Amino acid sequence: MIIERFAPSPTGFLHLGHAYSAYLGYKSAQNVEDKFLLRIEDIDFNRSKKKYENQIYSDLHWLGIKYEEPVLLQSTRLIAYNNKLKELWNCRHLFACNCTRKDIEISAAPQENGVPLAGPDGKIYPGTCLSNHQPLDMPEDALRLNMHNIKKNNFYFDDMEFGKVSFTKKDVIDNIGSVIIARKDIGISYHLSVVLDDAFQGITHVTRGADLLEATKIHVILQHLLGLPTPIYRHHRLIRDNTGRRLAKRDDSKSIKSYREAGFTPKDIISMFD
Ligand code: GLU
Repeated sequence: MIIERFAPSPTGFLHLGHAYSAYLGYKSAQNVEDKFLLRIEDIDFNRSKKKYENQIYSDLHWLGIKYEEPVLLQSTRLIAYNNKLKELWNCRHLFACNCTRKDIEISAAPQENGVPLAGPDGKIYPGTCLSNHQPLDMPEDALRLNMHNIKKNNFYFDDMEFGKVSFTKKDVIDNIGSVIIARKDIGISYHLSVVLDDAFQGITHVTRGADLLEATKIHVILQHLLGLPTPIYRHHRLIRDNTGRRLAKRDDSKSIKSYREAGFTPKDIISMFD
């Protein structure tokens, strides 16, 4: 049995890349016992908008991509996230950090000529607050993952495009760094909420763009720390614009909404994926 999900953030209109993820996930969950779920990742309350959420429902409906009801909204799950954050905090897997972006620029890694290495979440954190004494109660600062406290060294996940993807703790320390697990402004981050919800919804297969390959390594580590199963992943090729750039939510001209308004049919969109 396959349980797939599509998990867009309602912070802009869906573009071709999102539709491709949704389409592939939907197509792979077509046996009678399979499920295709929709999760709205609306934890960023400053950027999430109802009009984008409604457009997601409308675009999926228009594309013929059917999902099970009820839809899970991450904004309804904040208590569950906070409980797991406390668990990670109590096991010393997190540390508090109040560095600004500017602080991170200034404490640049010397081997990079003063320019901090860039990981999937931006500049790689130089470890400034890592040795701060840990207070008993969880502070309200940003909380980062303390990779150094993790005992396990070797990790892997299975990927339908890339096969078995193996990586070490050291790879993650060197190339991704101590990512934020709870943002100061919203009290949670994409990495933790996505891992908790994939487990909560019993997701067996995750289809997402290849730009999230590095983020998936963090997710596999969090699954290990929290004793959660690792789904099978499929990191699909990215849909690019005609200059070769990855599509982003700011490219409104490539949104499904704009294709619809320009008279394209769902078939026209799907034919771009084959
Ligand atoms: N909300 C994330 C996004 O829209 C989900 C990505 C994923 O985990 O598949 O990029």
